[in-house]
Amino acid sequence: MLGQMQNRPLLIADLIDFAERFHGDGEIVSRRVEGDIHRYTYADAAKRARQVAHALDRLDIPEGNRVGTLAWNGYRHFELYYGVSGSGRVLHTINPRLHPEQVAWIINHAEDEALCFDLTFLPIIKAIHAHCPGVKRWIALCNGSALPADSGIPNLLAYEAWIAGEPDWYTWPALDENAAACLCYTSGTTGNPKGVLYSHRSTVLHAYGAAMPDVMGLSARDAVLPVVPMFHVNAWGIPYIGAAVGCKLVFPGPALDGKSVYELIEAEGVTLAAGVPTVWQMLLGHLQQHQLRFSTLERTIIGGSACPPAMIRAFKDDYGVTVLHAWGMTEMSPLGTLCTLKKKHLSLSPEEQLKILCTQGRPVFGVDLKIVDESGNALPHDGVAQGELLVRGPWIVSSYFKGEGGDPLVNGWFPTGDVATINSEGYLHITDRSKDVIKSGGEWISSIDVENIAMAHPAVAMAACIGMKHPKWDERPIVVVVKKPGTDVSKEELLAFYQGKLSKWQIPDDAVFVDAIPLGATGKMQKVKLREQLAGYVLPTA
Ligand code: AMP
Repeated sequence: MLGQMQNRPLLIADLIDFAERFHGDGEIVSRRVEGDIHRYTYADAAKRARQVAHALDRLDIPEGNRVGTLAWNGYRHFELYYGVSGSGRVLHTINPRLHPEQVAWIINHAEDEALCFDLTFLPIIKAIHAHCPGVKRWIALCNGSALPADSGIPNLLAYEAWIAGEPDWYTWPALDENAAACLCYTSGTTGNPKGVLYSHRSTVLHAYGAAMPDVMGLSARDAVLPVVPMFHVNAWGIPYIGAAVGCKLVFPGPALDGKSVYELIEAEGVTLAAGVPTVWQMLLGHLQQHQLRFSTLERTIIGGSACPPAMIRAFKDDYGVTVLHAWGMTEMSPLGTLCTLKKKHLSLSPEEQLKILCTQGRPVFGVDLKIVDESGNALPHDGVAQGELLVRGPWIVSSYFKGEGGDPLVNGWFPTGDVATINSEGYLHITDRSKDVIKSGGEWISSIDVENIAMAHPAVAMAACIGMKHPKWDERPIVVVVKKPGTDVSKEELLAFYQGKLSKWQIPDDAVFVDAIPLGATGKMQKVKLREQLAGYVLPTA
């Protein structure tokens, strides 16, 4: 017997309609590429999203076809999120930090028919437009007066002129909730990137899940600053969650340095900010250098890479801000787990609580997790056994765009490529990417644990632990370190810092100091490149 409830589809356009009706005066504040601050409301955004939908109709872009964006976090990008997906097209967000050749490859692979870009990225567009014959229109996110003359780009329009004459009413199409809504390519550290095609249903369900109290816990009383980019994994879903809960949204545009982010947090009364550890490191550096305090910030969500415990401690002890450590990936929309305490943990000592808060946290309802050994056998959730992490759920990829890479699932589970432990309460601890695992004398050494300890040293700005070939032990770890400006630490001092914090055999054999560790397009350390940089290095113990 079937249930007798209404079968209304879950659609992205309903989010912005809802925000307009019930949070119409909710604020959206953006630092623009032009440098100034722009303010308007959800009601204004909804109107302009509908103008975008009309303008796309006028370009004759059929339902299901792709519209690319190469843009910072800002109100025009927000309007495209709704105007493109809401009208049945697929919003394809592109990471501008990729090499221009890769950007062109992605545009062609996605078959983008229009490409909307911030003027910051004009040099990229100039370099690639001739190689992207499928793009019918290049749309610069600016006023007509700011449109560059003699750019050499054919079919170039200014966004404001493009939507200006369009009506601000529109009847959103009655789409199938499983229709494609957004496309985001993985970072492609090996081989070409692969497209992850989110649906309306997966996006709305992710928004419900991510908004819950023990997850992002967003409400109409929050002011939220997504420093995580709208050009990669939809800024962790915040543009959708914001509309669902009616929180104030604060978009930082291109200014992601510590000073600009701090000033925006203070000026706009931000209560929650979200970003990767490297961004927060710049922010903390700025606060420390100028002896500043936060007046409104309560929580920061940190994910994308392991958040060093020293950072969680600094936010809490020095600034009274709670870090919510989150884990996820492009293929997961992205949220898988987020760390908050349970009631029974509240009586634990601050040190014991911190130990829990440093893990990647518990699964969001909707995400199922398991760890398996090399033969695929499930391992116990005892907090000790470590194995490859697999996930399943309604906002997790089932196959890549155009079937690239074949069927990624193993018996219905998506292998994440991460290695982890899970304890009996579901707290996940990521120890490594499987390709970064260090095996010494048959035992695994967690590169993340080694890095986290180095990061707790006051002279260390960034640390990467990699395994080096060893004649007796197969591999031995070394730690590669960037020092904080104006500080010093010797190799011996740094290695001594590990004493008592790790078992003797887990302590790195060497510390190597470098000026910079290569970072990828999503801010993650690129260990393959680092290895190339260290070609010729010989272990002192080998
Ligand atoms: P991406 O798909 O580019 O977002 O990268 C996803 C990968 O980032 C995951 O598979 C993890 O390896 C890594 N990652 C994300 N969040 C965390 C975290 N909190 N701790 C450790 N690794 C993380």
